Amino acid sequence: MFLADNFGRKINYLRLSITDRCNMRCVYCMPADGINKLGHAEILNYEQFLLIAEAAVSLGIEKIRVTGGEPLVRTGVLGFLERLAKISGLKQLVLTTNGVLLPEMAQALKDAGVQRLNISLDSLQPEMFARLTRRNLLSEVLSGIAAAEKVGLPYKINMVVMRGLNDNELLDFARLTQEHNCTVRFIEYMPTMKDKDWRSLVVSSQEVLQRLHDHYRLHPVDRGAMAGPAEEFAIAGAQGQIGVIAPLSGHFCQDCNRIRITSSGAVRTCLFSDHEFDLKPLLIAGNIDNIASELQRQVNDKPACHTLNSNSSGYSPFSMAQIGG
Ligand code: SAM
Repeated sequence: MFLADNFGRKINYLRLSITDRCNMRCVYCMPADGINKLGHAEILNYEQFLLIAEAAVSLGIEKIRVTGGEPLVRTGVLGFLERLAKISGLKQLVLTTNGVLLPEMAQALKDAGVQRLNISLDSLQPEMFARLTRRNLLSEVLSGIAAAEKVGLPYKINMVVMRGLNDNELLDFARLTQEHNCTVRFIEYMPTMKDKDWRSLVVSSQEVLQRLHDHYRLHPVDRGAMAGPAEEFAIAGAQGQIGVIAPLSGHFCQDCNRIRITSSGAVRTCLFSDHEFDLKPLLIAGNIDNIASELQRQVNDKPACHTLNSNSSGYSPFSMAQIGG
């Protein structure tokens, strides 16, 4: 089975945002006082997420990422992951987390069938970490990373690079790949909340690479068929790898292979388009063929490209915690 959109892009990657709740308040993601949370009844239950996942896999989705909000704060997440992992035809089950709850959950996540983690970490300096996340939890996250390593759960570290805040830590993060068998990915800051001076925060992936090249000899690394949008490199002799993700400056959209389901059950085929389709009525009816047909229709209409670099950027400000980061 092969799921493609009207532009011939193969869509094989589904992201499920299972909650809009989070135990951090990252400055690039949420206002200090948080977002308007959905009521519990508005958030899909696990059965509904499973229906979507099964329909999507029947169409050709091969990889599912569970995210949020912070997915590990949702009660029952382990049982849900275990059921997701058993969907016949699903090749990869991965999860994005801020790592705070990993010390107690890493082993159980592995046992449930999660194959890899993306762990968000934007600073190795306690003060900057606390400023960026508005929480004093760096040591918990570092313990979480150690726990993932200990149980043998492969992981990538995602760092959102922001000029004048954490961009002086690029080399420290790159060094992690010399000491650990992990991938560190540098992500361009995105104007999801349309803050006035967002452009001043962006450090392009090109600049990140240039700065790394000034210190290290990096060689390009081959990426697998289900790889995301990162370009990947390695420092000579390092155990791990370095990636850059360039949603703003890069040629991102032409290779986009993903769709998202928000925690309230809307399909969003482009992060930076307001267009969403509410699957809830179909989920309540519970007919998997109708859900699959609607997913196919939504994929057909996936926009060719986001409009982030145009002045008329056609999306309303949002928090990634609502859509699923
Ligand atoms: N709570 C989990 C976590 O922290 O990894 C999952 C959800 S969180 C929204 C996932 C990731 O989205 C963030 O860590 C960050 O990498 C990305 N993200 C959110 N807002 C962003 C922004 N404005 N620019 C770039 N990346 C952003």
